[in-house]
Amino acid sequence: MPITYSIVSPIFNEKDNIPELYRRVRDVMAATNQPWELVLVDDGSTDGSTDAIRALAQQDQHVRPVIFARNFGHQVAITAGWDYARGNAVVIMDADLQDPPEVIPDLIARWREGYEVVYAVRAEREGESWFKKISASLFYRIVYRITDVKIPVDTGDFRLMDRKVVDVLKSMHEKYRFPRGMSAWVGFRQIGVPYRRAARFSGVTKYPFSKMLKLALNAITGFSYFPLQLATYFGFASAGLAIVAIPVVIIMRLIGHGAFLGQATTLISVLFLGGVQLIFLGVLGEYIGRIYDEVKGRPLYIVREAPKD
Ligand code: UDP
Ligand code: MG
Repeated sequence: MPITYSIVSPIFNEKDNIPELYRRVRDVMAATNQPWELVLVDDGSTDGSTDAIRALAQQDQHVRPVIFARNFGHQVAITAGWDYARGNAVVIMDADLQDPPEVIPDLIARWREGYEVVYAVRAEREGESWFKKISASLFYRIVYRITDVKIPVDTGDFRLMDRKVVDVLKSMHEKYRFPRGMSAWVGFRQIGVPYRRAARFSGVTKYPFSKMLKLALNAITGFSYFPLQLATYFGFASAGLAIVAIPVVIIMRLIGHGAFLGQATTLISVLFLGGVQLIFLGVLGEYIGRIYDEVKGRPLYIVREAPKD
């Protein structure tokens, strides 16, 4: 019988969350009376999560294990979930139970109304540090401002997508991925459902500041040229300043005014412009490095074990 619902969870060292995740997903999905599967993508765990996933799959046919050869990152694990999910509707959900499985029926209800992407909006967050809350909030707002795709704010990867949408996403092979941006980019009928983001059931966050920064870079470079255009704006501004400054300095010299005589002025302006140029060289490098990685065309992820069908 064809699968109606696929629940996809990326897992990186979440051993203590797996049994609870499975139990709660099973209870919620059993109540739908539709065929479902739980795709657990093991993103190179080293804490025994892999064995826990294998054991669950042995015990219950609903569990579909996809095991990576190493850690490829959350976004890539989500991608593998899209690839291996067979359902008519695919739900992406964190494995730490911050996204409560009990919200899935609300997402399904909207899908049944005809929406093709139903994303869960964080109305409240529990059990997270003020630093995480502020940086997350800043992240969403900066990305919203800079990128060309209007990615809904306070929305993570927790969402339900119709098969049509998943098939389009599967055809997008970019290496530096920002799944929630990609799913906003494709269009279709989209709607948000508010929910309370719970505290982690067990363990600590697998998203240190460095990973959040990387994600922000993926989001910005993947969906905007703004950092590159900034160099152009800066160039016009400093060239404009120079054009105004030239006659001013000449006139001051002619009338014997003593301004702009010292080396300090020269030194500061050389250092300043040199710095600005190096920064934009770095920005350019960021884009070129990404182009290089894209043209290499390496596989996005490598699986050690995955279902054949
Ligand atoms: N995760 C992953 N690979 C990674 C980091 C995280 O698959 O390299 C998974 C993790 O197991 C969890 C989800 O991504 O299911 C979200 O991670 P986390 O809860 O640590 O992020 P936070 O909620 O703190 O932003
Ligand atoms: Mg989490």
